[in-house]
Amino acid sequence: MEEMIRCRTCGTEYSGDHCPTCLCALHTDEDPEYDCGGVMEPVSVWVKPDGAWELILRCRSCGEMETFPVAKGDNPMKLLSVASKPLANPPFPIERLEDIAKMTGATGSTGDFGGAYEQGE
Ligand SMILES: [Zn+2]
Ligand SMILES: [Zn+2]
Repeated sequence: MEEMIRCRTCGTEYSGDHCPTCLCALHTDEDPEYDCGGVMEPVSVWVKPDGAWELILRCRSCGEMETFPVAKGDNPMKLLSVASKPLANPPFPIERLEDIAKMTGATGSTGDFGGAYEQGE
């Protein structure tokens, strides 16, 4: 039997690793040194090569990043709003961003993105 956790952000009771309503999680770790207890907020969603969605959460207290697989009951509207957030401030290391770009087929040099920046010159 899984332990129910009450979400500190929206009050939803849930079992599992993150809240299905607001997609926040608590920053816990088996190692007490890393168990800060802060609230982890969703900063982005990315799609793995096998098509599975993963949430990228960042801890409000310590800034630590973690990824969680998207669960079946997760709020689809919230997922979409997180997924469509502009990445003005990439929350993950830049090498991770390059991996994501490779996976989505963006070349970053002569691809379709190039044209977007050249317009209007
Ligand atoms: Zn919540
Ligand atoms: Zn933390």
